[in-house]
Amino acid sequence: MRVLSGMRPTGKLHLGHYFGVIKNWVSLQDKHETLFFVADWHALTTAYKKTSELQENIKEVMLDWVALGLDPKKSILFIQSKVKEHAELFLLFSMITPKSWLEWNPTYKDMKYNLLKISDMEIQFRGGMRDLVKEFISKIPYKVEDFEALEELILDEVSESFVKAVFDGYLESEMLKELNVSKRDFYDTDTYGFLGYPVLQAVDILIYKANAVPVGEDQLPHIELTREIARRFNYLYGDTFPEPEALLTETPKLVGIDGRKMSKSYNNAIYFADSKNEVEQKVMRFFTDPQKLRKGDPGRPEICPVFMYHKLFTQDEKVLEIERDCRSGKLGCVECKRIMFEGLEKVLEPIREKRENLRKDMKHLEDIFDEGSEKARNIASKTLEEVREKMNLK
Ligand code: SF4
Repeated sequence: MRVLSGMRPTGKLHLGHYFGVIKNWVSLQDKHETLFFVADWHALTTAYKKTSELQENIKEVMLDWVALGLDPKKSILFIQSKVKEHAELFLLFSMITPKSWLEWNPTYKDMKYNLLKISDMEIQFRGGMRDLVKEFISKIPYKVEDFEALEELILDEVSESFVKAVFDGYLESEMLKELNVSKRDFYDTDTYGFLGYPVLQAVDILIYKANAVPVGEDQLPHIELTREIARRFNYLYGDTFPEPEALLTETPKLVGIDGRKMSKSYNNAIYFADSKNEVEQKVMRFFTDPQKLRKGDPGRPEICPVFMYHKLFTQDEKVLEIERDCRSGKLGCVECKRIMFEGLEKVLEPIREKRENLRKDMKHLEDIFDEGSEKARNIASKTLEEVREKMNLK
């Protein structure tokens, strides 16, 4: 079975990436033919305005992947943009994919919905300003030729400035939180590239005729779309693409130091690139059971983020002891965190070391991904030849 998956290069990887994605990839490479790619073109669907850090981010991902156990002897590791065949197949698939299939994509629908909410907010603001603007015009010490036209012009300008002010942070950010929108949603993602990115995902999978794609539940609609595109192509031009299956994997949701989902944007993550000292400081800042204020107070390990880490990084017998001593109050949070830090470091230290060694010879690492991209290209170009032939393009 051929298994393929990719990841956007958003920078250094954290523990959440490992438990959510990479750990599964590492085990898959022992059982199947595997291809893993850095999806740098996908990074542009939302972050096309800021590409200054793109190359650095790609390098960080390459370092983490290999340090975490992705093995170029077992898997093809490659960079999406180095296999230009993806772009040609993207163009060809764009010709056969109905626009309505893309507009049903939940991510796209969310973005559109947010735009509608913003436009509602703008309409309400406009309505609320009308009387004030009328009053303002009536006080202008000049003869007004067309009262209504001037009123509309001022309202247009004021409401446009209002929305801009919201996004530029001049107004309470709570308002944005309530609307659940970001500046990015509003300005950056209403593009052809964003609408079409599921087609590019279909290309990434089908160009290698992958049979299975490890994904989270939120990605299921994309796999379904890939299958639909494969079916449509096969129907129009003859059997070419297998319909890939989603490989759903249960992964523990790792929380960050503040108890929320671990994420770069929450600034709560522990990175593989962090030094021992940085990890220690982060562990000491971990949220714990808020009712356990001091040693002696009984705690509730089931709601404590530190205990979640003990279950992953501390020896089983010790975990039982910690659970008991936390509940009785015998164990204090500072000591508990220290034990957790020791267990965590046992895992992080060798990875950090491997990462540092890899960094010393970036040329070698780049060669690994160049060779992988060449291997990927060999597969992709064969598929493309078949596609061109079936579509009478040669
Ligand atoms: S003792 Fe440990 S498990 Fe219990 S609340 Fe404190 S940090 Fe959490």
